[in-house]
Amino acid sequence: MIPYGRQDITQADIDAVVDVLRSDFLTQGPAVPRFEQGVARRVGVQHAVAVNSATSALHLACLALELQAGDLLWTVPNTFVASANCGRYCGADVDFVDIDPVSWNISVPALHEKLLAARRQGRLPKVLVAVHFAGQPTEQEDIWRLAQEFGFRVIEDASHAIGAARNGEPVGSCRWSDITVFSFHPVKIITSAEGGMATTRDAILAERMCLLRSHGITRDTSKFRSFDGTPPAWAYEQQQLGYNYRMTDVHAALGASQLARLDEYVVARNARAQRYGRLLAALPLMLPTVLPGNLSAFHLYVVRLQTAPGRPTHRHLFDQLRELGIGVNLHYMPVHLQPYYRDLGFVPGDYPQSERYAEEAISLPLFAVMSDAQQDAVVSALEEVLS
Ligand SMILES: *Cc1c(COP(=O)(O)O)cnc(C)c1O
Repeated sequence: MIPYGRQDITQADIDAVVDVLRSDFLTQGPAVPRFEQGVARRVGVQHAVAVNSATSALHLACLALELQAGDLLWTVPNTFVASANCGRYCGADVDFVDIDPVSWNISVPALHEKLLAARRQGRLPKVLVAVHFAGQPTEQEDIWRLAQEFGFRVIEDASHAIGAARNGEPVGSCRWSDITVFSFHPVKIITSAEGGMATTRDAILAERMCLLRSHGITRDTSKFRSFDGTPPAWAYEQQQLGYNYRMTDVHAALGASQLARLDEYVVARNARAQRYGRLLAALPLMLPTVLPGNLSAFHLYVVRLQTAPGRPTHRHLFDQLRELGIGVNLHYMPVHLQPYYRDLGFVPGDYPQSERYAEEAISLPLFAVMSDAQQDAVVSALEEVLS
């Protein structure tokens, strides 16, 4: 089976991990800050906080922005469930904004309209999670303008989009957001096995996330509240209810080693995407559109089946491609239609663009080390099934 995504592990990656295993620190050592500084420098941002997954990073981002019970978090239905769940972890209510039928990212006009209605009803969101779907940046400067106008905070879920840029601005620089979150799961652009990171320009948000990723405990004596005079050498303080969301040095070393090849990966993924574009042009498929000014990281290559009488159904196409050894996937079943969210009151028909998209979308295999022969096999299988 040709998978829809897979990691690329080099000897340099293995050496970097082994070096940590032979060193004094498996966790809370120097590899984590080194990886954080590497990402911060690459995306042009002041602060980076490494954690054990993007899901943890989303949770910490919401906590740092003081999202709580009674508040509202908005995101899109066309994402992984974690983009919405982070709001629920904080006790907030979650609602969704439909996607644009061309970019498959959040629709800025739909967002504006929903904000106007929310203002009339007196229930504006506190946090918006904007997802750079498939690696394509959202129209983030417009979202940021709306955030100023309507007074909400913005998290960029860039789990798909490390290495992407909009108008030359790297995703993660937080020019148009409060916090950006990256994932380093093995299917993503670069991997630390499991891992995530939050970036921000705001020192206070960064400090909050650092504290919360490690139990809410500080060892910084200048911040201590409960000692008069010089504290004893063993002293630490738990000042808030935090978590153990730390990244280990083993994972950070792998991530940092992979980061050195980020640009190479993004170039390779874009080249594959362009080749798909040429090879698939004659088939009844809607191909991805990269908006002007965007560099996509092409985490995913999604096509939409143009359904018509006599053509295979979406379901049939999936089954046949899987049978032919092509590991196609659907990104994503709309989050609001998951049983957990239906139990909260969402129903089919709530977000028609996301629902229609999910009835047509197919993620084709795409990864940095994919060969021409593998890609040709995907194209042949599609031609066979669609002819
Ligand atoms: C993968 C992914 C996540 C979660 O990442 P983890 O590192 O596995 O927690 C969140 N959001 C989106 C859009 C993702 O694709």
